[in-house]
Amino acid sequence: MDFEYTPEEQAFREEVRTFLAENLPRKAERGTDFLATWLAKVREKGWVGFSWPKEFGGSDGGLIEQTILREEMALAKAPPLGTSFMGLAWVGPGIMQYGTEAQKKKFIPDILDSKVTWCTGYSEPNHGSDLASIQCKAVREGDHYLVNGQKTWTTGAAFSQWIILLTRTSFDVEVKHNGITCLLVAMDSPGIDVRPIENMAGDRHFAEIFFTDVKVPVENRLGEEGDGWKVTVSALANERSSIGEVTQMFGKLDTLKALVKRTNRQGKPASKDPKVRRTLAVFEAKIAAMKYNGLRYLTKQIRGEPLTSETSVNKLHRASLEIEMDDFAVELTGQSGLQLKGGSDAVENGRWAKSSLNWPNVVIGGGTPNIQRNIIAERILGLPKD
Ligand SMILES: Cc1cc2nc3c(=O)[nH]c(=O)nc-3n(C[C@H](O)[C@H](O)[C@H](O)COP(=O)(O)OP(=O)(O)OC[C@H]3O[C@@H](n4cnc5c(N)ncnc54)[C@H](O)[C@@H]3O)c2cc1C
Repeated sequence: MDFEYTPEEQAFREEVRTFLAENLPRKAERGTDFLATWLAKVREKGWVGFSWPKEFGGSDGGLIEQTILREEMALAKAPPLGTSFMGLAWVGPGIMQYGTEAQKKKFIPDILDSKVTWCTGYSEPNHGSDLASIQCKAVREGDHYLVNGQKTWTTGAAFSQWIILLTRTSFDVEVKHNGITCLLVAMDSPGIDVRPIENMAGDRHFAEIFFTDVKVPVENRLGEEGDGWKVTVSALANERSSIGEVTQMFGKLDTLKALVKRTNRQGKPASKDPKVRRTLAVFEAKIAAMKYNGLRYLTKQIRGEPLTSETSVNKLHRASLEIEMDDFAVELTGQSGLQLKGGSDAVENGRWAKSSLNWPNVVIGGGTPNIQRNIIAERILGLPKD
């Protein structure tokens, strides 16, 4: 593994840092038009859809530059490079790979220009891990599909304009992965009912969605009828680098260290407590392990080898680490640490309590730990099937 950057890569890092210094004011100094200006500027730089081909409005950015960009953005705690995380991470790449020319023209520019937000309608009440068993039905009637069924846990459903929706177009299949079709559906279509779900931290990020006789034009089908599984799997594989996440984790650790320095434990500064110090050191070592594992994936990608099951290792590792860090902060600050924003003694506006209650975001979202463990056991370690 070579850790050195070329002069060109260093120069790119400097360019990003200079841009951030010139265009990212401190939070307190940001006006109401800050986000719109920021989005326009990063778009102008070609950093939205940085790795996308130029013909689609991207920059053909290389993997290392992409990593540098994510790392510097995360270090500066900059806002995202576009408003549609899912649009940029998998919907856009899915459309570029499987979409018709008309779909590419219609959807790609709006994702890059942050004009639309996408959500993802995969999970159903009885089908999350076992996604290939979905039942939401789409029946072709002439030039449109008629969709009936339910999705759940759909992040951002209440404010997204479009949804990438997995439906079943054929029930008469020998293998459940067949007969699935991917549709791009406008969220304001008649027959769509979005009911937000409140999580235990009091947030309403996700929702259940009911589809009743929703008409979706055939021209909004992504890929061929019955090919939805293939479209989904390769679209999800586009979400690849974990380097930005590692930088965020190092940032979280710094915040935790600052909390420790301000906290007393049994009458003494918590920072003098050997158990506390050891815990912080373990967190740091675990994040470093995640970093080097991420660099190992990156090396593989640079060599042109596709990533497969190995990304499950960092996903699993991060899930447990986030819980350990949040729980540690809550425990350290005692009863006040349990108070949410608005509580009389809430610590740091209740951020650790909230983060601790929000554990399903990193643990369940994107696949549960058991599923990751099965993937690692079967596909990496070659152990027998569960
Ligand atoms: C914050 C958050 C955001 C989400 N956002 C979205 C979204 O935007 N769009 C979307 O479509 N979905 C979304 N989801 C849903 C998420 O993808 C599913 O919750 C997840 O895949 C698990 O599915 P499930 O809830 O049906 O649980 P289940 O699959 O029923 O799993 C329940 C338990 O059984 C275990 N289990 C299941 N199968 C096996 C097996 N074969 N072997 C061993 N153990 C197993 C699981 O590990 C888990 O512990 C979100 C979830 C969360 C928490």
